Amino acid sequence: MGYGGTFEQWCKYQRDARSRALKHSRRRIDPTEPITTWKEIDSLEGKNVQAMVAILNTPGCTWARGIGCLMCGYTNDVHVQELTTDQLKLQIEVVAGRSAGMKIIKLFDSGSFLDPNEAGSEPWSALEPLAELEELGLVIIESRPNFMDKGSLLKCKEALGDIKLDVAIGLESASETILYGCINKGFTFEDYKKAAETAKEVGVGVKTYLLLKPPFVTEWGAVEDCSRSVDLLLDTGLTQTISINPVNVQNFTAVEALYERGAYRSPWLWSVLEVLRRNADKANEKGVRLMSSPTAGGKTRGAHNCGTCDLKLLEIIEVYSLDNDPGLLDVPDCGCKGEWDMLMQLRDRAWE
Ligand code: SF4
Ligand SMILES: [Zn+2]
Repeated sequence: MGYGGTFEQWCKYQRDARSRALKHSRRRIDPTEPITTWKEIDSLEGKNVQAMVAILNTPGCTWARGIGCLMCGYTNDVHVQELTTDQLKLQIEVVAGRSAGMKIIKLFDSGSFLDPNEAGSEPWSALEPLAELEELGLVIIESRPNFMDKGSLLKCKEALGDIKLDVAIGLESASETILYGCINKGFTFEDYKKAAETAKEVGVGVKTYLLLKPPFVTEWGAVEDCSRSVDLLLDTGLTQTISINPVNVQNFTAVEALYERGAYRSPWLWSVLEVLRRNADKANEKGVRLMSSPTAGGKTRGAHNCGTCDLKLLEIIEVYSLDNDPGLLDVPDCGCKGEWDMLMQLRDRAWE
């Protein structure tokens, strides 16, 4: 297929790529061990703290088992075919054992923690081992909006006791055109708002991921869509954190096929900076943390510039994401900025 394929053809490509990914997957079948864990610095209530990140070993996103989002290769990391809640709980016990002194624990499961198809109908009970951790202040899980009903959220809260819970939702964009015509997201901005309102009602926080540069949009269109999405999100008052996630080209995805055909370039770091810069003041006014932590930043498959200024920009983005000081975003130019400026003249309207 050339790069002029229809959206339906690219969806079919993504579905077939998933089958190829499963054949290449290095299966780790022990369902009682997380795939990996690591520590990093994050921000909690304005202070920089230690956070534990765990990639759980689950069957992964149900949506991705159909077709999934066109940039998503997260389920490439999925190893078990089935998982019980008890097995998930054993994985989280391992995470708890590695989390002494951690203030934040992020549980990533390449899908939706609350999806009953991933780890049984009562996944909240798997969170119980974390309630023992005295210094822990926040647990973050991820979910698509349709699994965020009041009952499930309340049970998660109950399992965690006094520890705060945030649910991270991969909204990606507030534009229905982008959600349906570029990503194949399978839910709407309205669905997101309904779920975020439910979370607010029961005292659960929301972190929102926005995708920078989905396939089939120009650099300019990507910046416009992402900035406009941040602005609309800030107006909802439903999210405490907005994370700008620039696309990184993942294996066995439609985006990878476009990239290999020369029809996709992951976003410039200038674009990440531009989205942050346009929205920094409003985010501060609304008390929302705006951040970005570009996966594979500076590499060809991740958000990157010319190679000379990448590290500097990544450092600025990292520090801004912790401190949210807009003054940090005024950076000196680099020779490559002219090329980015030229690309920003190529205007499309796909995102409207
Ligand atoms: S981006 Fe999220 S919702 Fe979409 S296929 Fe991947 S894991 Fe599923
Ligand atoms: Zn440069």
